[in-house]
Amino acid sequence: MNTVKLSAGNNIEARCTRCRKVLNHTIVAMVGELVVRVECNTCRGVHNYHRGTETKAPTATARVRKTVAPPAKTKKEPGAADREEWESLRPTMVKEQAVAYDMNRKYRVNSLLDHPAFGLGVVKLISGPNKMEVLFQGGKKLLRCE
Ligand SMILES: [Zn+2]
Repeated sequence: MNTVKLSAGNNIEARCTRCRKVLNHTIVAMVGELVVRVECNTCRGVHNYHRGTETKAPTATARVRKTVAPPAKTKKEPGAADREEWESLRPTMVKEQAVAYDMNRKYRVNSLLDHPAFGLGVVKLISGPNKMEVLFQGGKKLLRCE
């Protein structure tokens, strides 16, 4: 560690972008204890400070990338999102208003129905002729309808 405090006007070895060599430079600007701009004592060119030895650290970048990657979580259980949605809709579901499921009936989006096996469900989508997608507590199901 270099314990000598640097300040503007001091000499420092830096890589000159113009001379493409490590040469003596005069510090022009600093941010805190970091040298940011230097003037080349050879070509008098002012440029950002580059360390004399350019150490490219691919390992460091690799490490950064690793931490950025999402943690390997266990897969969300299938239907978890559906269940959450169902739970959020649950307060709006009034069992008395639910229509007993009947595949010979017509349904509309947001209709509430009561299925003998799946329980209360909300019609999410009329997905085709005689088909609709209903959100139940156990997930979305495709049901027949008129
Ligand atoms: Zn230079």
